[in-house]
Amino acid sequence: MQKNIAIVGAGFSGAVIARQLAEAGYQVEIFESRPHIAGNCHSERDAETGVMVHIYGPHIFHTDIERVWEYVNRYSRFMPYVNRVKAITNNSVYTLPINLLTINQFFGKTFRPAEAQEFLASLGDKSIENPVTFEDQALRFVGKELYEAFFKTYTVKQWGMQPTELPASILKRLPVRFNYDDNYFAHKYQGMPENGYTDLVEKIMDVPGITLHLNTKFDPANKGDYAHVFYSGPIDAWFKHSEGRLPYRTLDFEVFRDTGDYQGNAVINYCDDSQPYTRITEHKHFSPWEKHEKTLMYKEYSRQCEEKDIPYYPIRQARDKQQLERYVTVAREEPNVTFVGRLGTYRYLDMDVTINEALDTADKFLECAKGNERMPAFVIDPLA
Ligand code: UDP
Repeated sequence: MQKNIAIVGAGFSGAVIARQLAEAGYQVEIFESRPHIAGNCHSERDAETGVMVHIYGPHIFHTDIERVWEYVNRYSRFMPYVNRVKAITNNSVYTLPINLLTINQFFGKTFRPAEAQEFLASLGDKSIENPVTFEDQALRFVGKELYEAFFKTYTVKQWGMQPTELPASILKRLPVRFNYDDNYFAHKYQGMPENGYTDLVEKIMDVPGITLHLNTKFDPANKGDYAHVFYSGPIDAWFKHSEGRLPYRTLDFEVFRDTGDYQGNAVINYCDDSQPYTRITEHKHFSPWEKHEKTLMYKEYSRQCEEKDIPYYPIRQARDKQQLERYVTVAREEPNVTFVGRLGTYRYLDMDVTINEALDTADKFLECAKGNERMPAFVIDPLA
């Protein structure tokens, strides 16, 4: 008898791979240790306010990848939502990412684009030719004042370490704009699934051939019972942390409710040390097409992830890379297991990239099956 495929984790990686393989005729079993699907994208309506809550913190869908946009739109209607983040620092409110309004307000100027660009270039530290750290990157491109007002303290709160210890790649997520565009994301498509992310993931998994086991941990010792295992859990947990724990940041949310409009926007960042939290999110503003009298907010605190916590952000400092390399080396030796997603490859991934890689992974598997080739442990190299 043909063995089933096992998929560990019912987030985007697991759901997309499961669907693609089930559609190709495989019997797929998904093992999810939590009582719900959708991983950290899980959303649920709050009984008291009626607001759709992003239980593990805000998730905004944005992408430039046509096939991913087309894919998610097959399973949910996407409603218009544009993320426009406000930032509080030194007792003033600004717009992020840093744009012409931020620059003009911050410096009390009326610059046009070219003037602002020239001005910022004069503030940037040109002696930093090849920025390696987060701090280098900031000092090089925005200069000391903007760096200290918007990035330095927020980053210490978010990552628990100095920007000199973090890679420049983290700051490269944020653009600097010399116009008044304050859309946080530069992608062609952006929006929110009408009925939340959990509904979207449920629809992706809704196809004959998939069996879902909630509240069920998968024991790697049982891998031989399956034709192949796709594992989207933490790579170090698969190996029982034999090389030590890969470090993550986790988040704590202080939930509070009110009536009316609490802050007038979905996301407000607290960039200085006047508050210990990084941001407040007001969830009803993530669904601007809905109307609610009451409102629900999250104050977001970041801290080091301990054994019992939910991992969020892989830290990936240079020293973690060697530890990761050791896990990748042993993982490559695992027959019939493929490591996928944010936790399986220990990378800071957006949802669209996760879905795109899951589609690639399923394609690769079907191609290998056809050619009788060995499915690799990684379709995407975690060390690249
Ligand atoms: N960041 C910052 N100030 C802000 C927003 C972001 O210093 O107001 C830095 C911070 O280090 C953060 C990184 O930029 O981790 C990337 O920000 P992004 O908004 O992409 O983080 P996410 O929403 O994924 O947590």
